[in-house]
Amino acid sequence: MGTIDHDNYEAVIGLEVHCQLLTESKAFAPVSTEFGGLPNTQLTPLCLGHPGTLPVLNDNLVRYTIKMGLATHCEVSRKSIFARKNYFYPDLPKGYQISQYETPICHGGHITITDEEAGGEDGPSTEKRIGITRIHMEEDAGKSIHDQDPYHTLVDLNRAGVPLIEIVSEPDLRTPKEAYNYLTRIKQIVQYLEICDGNMEEGSLRCDANVSVMPRGSQTFGTRTELKNMNSFRNVERALGYEIERQIALLEEGGEVVQETMLWDPDKMETRMMRTKEEAHDYRYFPEPDIPPVVVTDDMLDEVRAELPEMPDVRQKRFMDDFDMSAQDARTLTDDRYLADFFEKLVDTSGSPRAASNLVLTEVLRVLNERSISIREFPVSSERLGGLIDLREDDKVNSSAMTAIFDAMLEQEGSAEDLAESMNLLQVSDAGFIEPIVEQVIEEHPDEVGRYRDGKKGLIGFFIGQVMQRSQGKANPNLVRELIASKLEES
Ligand code: ADP
Ligand code: MG
Repeated sequence: MGTIDHDNYEAVIGLEVHCQLLTESKAFAPVSTEFGGLPNTQLTPLCLGHPGTLPVLNDNLVRYTIKMGLATHCEVSRKSIFARKNYFYPDLPKGYQISQYETPICHGGHITITDEEAGGEDGPSTEKRIGITRIHMEEDAGKSIHDQDPYHTLVDLNRAGVPLIEIVSEPDLRTPKEAYNYLTRIKQIVQYLEICDGNMEEGSLRCDANVSVMPRGSQTFGTRTELKNMNSFRNVERALGYEIERQIALLEEGGEVVQETMLWDPDKMETRMMRTKEEAHDYRYFPEPDIPPVVVTDDMLDEVRAELPEMPDVRQKRFMDDFDMSAQDARTLTDDRYLADFFEKLVDTSGSPRAASNLVLTEVLRVLNERSISIREFPVSSERLGGLIDLREDDKVNSSAMTAIFDAMLEQEGSAEDLAESMNLLQVSDAGFIEPIVEQVIEEHPDEVGRYRDGKKGLIGFFIGQVMQRSQGKANPNLVRELIASKLEES
């Protein structure tokens, strides 16, 4: 078997992303959407599709979708309609899903993705625009549970009718890595907008990936397959990588890609066929007769626009300007909205942007990585942590003591100052304690004193080191330096 030259091919990828919205009630019924309730307790006859029930559109579903549309530079339709998407499945007792088809509420936008690694280690990152074809509103189905009863599939309909948006991209993505970056960007945007928690592992963000390959430089796209069942960002990247290889190998053997839907198997790390185009559903879409057209007024658009938060790219530039930090640091701090909020609160309580960014970028991020937790699960509040920065800025502790106190704060209650005291780490700024040590060190090193007085001023570091050692690191180094200098100047 010859080796395949992958550079002869280029992949084309388009993603369909579903986001579960954080509204309090369902899309068309006044029932709670809260996650984790006992099965089938968050229901009305409407969710079950009983005849005689009428859906009522949740205003927040419309507002949240417009928010996403504005944040991704979409055009917002002033009038759009809902449609029925018909199919049979046990978790869909109505027999149809309310969705949008021909007139989505938002269309024609874009999302900018950044490739940090494009220019190598310190090189510039590159930016690329990915077109957003459409964003539409729909409702979720219920959940089939296959692993709780040995003989039967159980159905929980709490999720039936929970509002979703579907974001469809143009086929603008070219590599699995770009698809990964695009998804990360969507997660970041929905979190900044607070319309979805963006958690792919828990299913509040889901992704179907369409992928084809073509000879590099070709103008005509190849036949695509659609990948489903990927429950993490990394799995989307892996599944696409696997599928691109499979398609290239197939073409190289003289075969043809068949349009079909594939399932990703995360254990075997491969894709397998789920259904072919012939078996695809015919959804028999038609306009939903029970919901009037969705009209977006000027007032509504203005209100939603006024609610838009500062977006990550803008916030990054502000951090660079206001706090005088590098693009990379500002980016790391603004990647996650809640990390950026935490950092800004820390700046407020401590008054020192430089110390706050140092602490967050090194110690706080280290702990988040080690424990695989998000900043919202971080055990120390920004107020408490501000106290630690104050201690250091006031020169009451040295830098290694600061790290020790930080670690203690993760495990124990109490203010930074109380912990410093109980750990015996408070720096001594009392000349009465330091002076005798300084005198002793000078007396024991007549040679060094002589050389210092002859002009070898660099030796001051040696004397400071000696004094710090004898004070077990507790003497305030600035005061130590001052006292040594004045003693050595005396003759
Ligand atoms: P469908 O109606 O079957 O869902 P769409 O035209 O809506 O098809 O496309 C679905 C997704 O597939 C979009 O994200 C689009 O960018 C992507 N797509 C379309 N054609 C191709 C192709 N040849 N290769 C890869 N992705 C594609
Ligand atoms: Mg589609």
